[in-house]
Amino acid sequence: MNLILLGAPGTGKGTLADGIRKATGIAHVSTGDLFRANIKEGTPLGKEAEGYMARGELVPDSLTIAMLEARLGQDDCRAGFMLDGFPRTVAQADALAAFLAAKGWRIDAVLNVTLADATIQDRLSGRRVCASCGRSYNLQAMPPKVEGVCDDCGGAVEQRPDDRPETIANRLRAYHEKTRPLVDYYGGRGLLHGFDNEIGSKETLQRILRLLAGL
Ligand code: AMP
Repeated sequence: MNLILLGAPGTGKGTLADGIRKATGIAHVSTGDLFRANIKEGTPLGKEAEGYMARGELVPDSLTIAMLEARLGQDDCRAGFMLDGFPRTVAQADALAAFLAAKGWRIDAVLNVTLADATIQDRLSGRRVCASCGRSYNLQAMPPKVEGVCDDCGGAVEQRPDDRPETIANRLRAYHEKTRPLVDYYGGRGLLHGFDNEIGSKETLQRILRLLAGL
């Protein structure tokens, strides 16, 4: 089973992806996580991507598509994958379609996760992430038990540089201009399933798992 998780930054895609991975065993492929790992390791790709990410802009398609295709070529993706944060432009979606067609693979469903803009702003500004294991927290809704310390691994819980208010506005603008058109792109192909995450991630996850069980 191959899935795409679509949605603006801060709608809760990462948390839902984690739940889907635990329930189904398919690989979670997050282009944001892949870029952050490259930055941490100081790779040439990380060095190229860093400036765009810090400004809240999209990394150029050529770099992003090459990185994603290399990741999908790894063994764990053969049994199924979910894409989180990719595609983000129509050019990326077209490149993905061509890549999958060449492999004889297909996308089974696109899960479009939505939240009101005001909720997104609150969630992104309150989001904190473990620098070691990547677990997400929220200062209001789901703080770590000990301030600044990850419940799971004891790592440092920090604010992502691109979750600062000035960068959040750019990321939301990039979403509306470049990514939102993909709702119609996949809607037109009969693949889109909408999930309003205002009801909370636990309930949304149950709804998603019910859909996946029927695919
Ligand atoms: P995310 O963790 O998905 O919110 O992504 C963080 C940042 O990584 C984005 O704001 C972009 O700068 C970059 N990024 C992640 N995925 C993509 C993509 N598919 N295309 C272009 N840039 C991306």
